[in-house]
Amino acid sequence: MPTSRIHLSPPHVGEWEQFFVEEAFTSNYLAPLGPMVERLEEEFSALTGFPHCLALNSGTAAMHLALRHLYDQFKITLSKKKKERPVVVASTLTFIGSVSPARFLDCDLHFIDSDRETWNMDPLLLDEELHWCRNHGLAVLAVAATDLYGQCCNVPALQEICQRHQTPLIIDSAESLGAQYYDHHGERHAAGRGGACAIYSFNGNKIITTSGGGMLASDNRELIEHARKLSQQAREAVPWYEHREIGYNYRMSNLLAALGRGQLRVLQQRVERKREICGLYQEYLADVPGISFMPEADYNQANRWLTVILIDPEKFGAAPLEIIERLEQENIESRPLWKPMHLQPVFRHCRVRGGGVSEELFALGLCLPSGTAMSDSQIEDISNLIRSCGNS
Ligand SMILES: *Cc1c(COP(=O)(O)O)cnc(C)c1O
Repeated sequence: MPTSRIHLSPPHVGEWEQFFVEEAFTSNYLAPLGPMVERLEEEFSALTGFPHCLALNSGTAAMHLALRHLYDQFKITLSKKKKERPVVVASTLTFIGSVSPARFLDCDLHFIDSDRETWNMDPLLLDEELHWCRNHGLAVLAVAATDLYGQCCNVPALQEICQRHQTPLIIDSAESLGAQYYDHHGERHAAGRGGACAIYSFNGNKIITTSGGGMLASDNRELIEHARKLSQQAREAVPWYEHREIGYNYRMSNLLAALGRGQLRVLQQRVERKREICGLYQEYLADVPGISFMPEADYNQANRWLTVILIDPEKFGAAPLEIIERLEQENIESRPLWKPMHLQPVFRHCRVRGGGVSEELFALGLCLPSGTAMSDSQIEDISNLIRSCGNS
């Protein structure tokens, strides 16, 4: 087995990245903002189909700005009618960066379980929860639905429900850039399309990276322009520094945008390799009793950011944590799934609708090394190691 560590999803950069970073360097545009940021936004817009895009320093910042914009509108239109704090309804099986921004704004979080077919937000449970909120006089600021491990959430179903309840849908596509889904008419859309806005992440472990970064994207110009202003300390458009509201320092730097432009050019290759890696694991582990794979819902083509398996400990002969330990001995990183938010101590007072599905996935799931620079034989070796943990 290799001696250097095999990570879950390490950065994978090449010549394009070097080319653009050098260009940024030689043009001396190291200052935070610059032409690379604008180019990246344009190229991201062309790729996803969103007319308005805003490059930021993290996906968490993107979610914060999206919610903050909706919150400001909410204060204007609804504050006199509703006494309670607004609610953000979110996927429970997700990464905390998806939901902590709701708490930055002092909103309440209500969590929704996954369904078994997609592992993403269950539309029926969402509908029930939105009814419940209305019956209890609670104002829902937004629904935040995650595209888990690169699989698009069921956008047509979620969007229909959100429209009926007049609630904006924010799609958390931090893990799903490059994935696609089909709507009821069979039309194809980039992951993240179809809601009020979408957030993306270029963190170091994501399918493409700027070492740290994110994007907020929308059809709504007003939303993006307000977010743009908020991301730059909410400076007013006058020659001196004038501030009428409180903003943040959330913009992406020019140098990192250069890295992002290089990465965007290889995104399609990365998606193809991620899907290939998942296919190889499926091949090598096909006959192992007690191992199954995260299903790919037929309405989408996932990017398979991470290959995720479920272990039935009885049939397989070992539990996920035992496999993690065995792989760790060979310096190979593997991990449990995201621990559901409703099980997190910090959210113990939050409502959850359902919960059993995500709890089971957390107990039985395992994320496998999925780096796009891995060789086929490394994947075969890892598969054989996993197999050797079981009975067969
Ligand atoms: C990574 C991630 C985020 C946050 O992105 P950062 O760029 O790390 O802030 C949000 N949601 C999900 C589902 C993620 O996986």
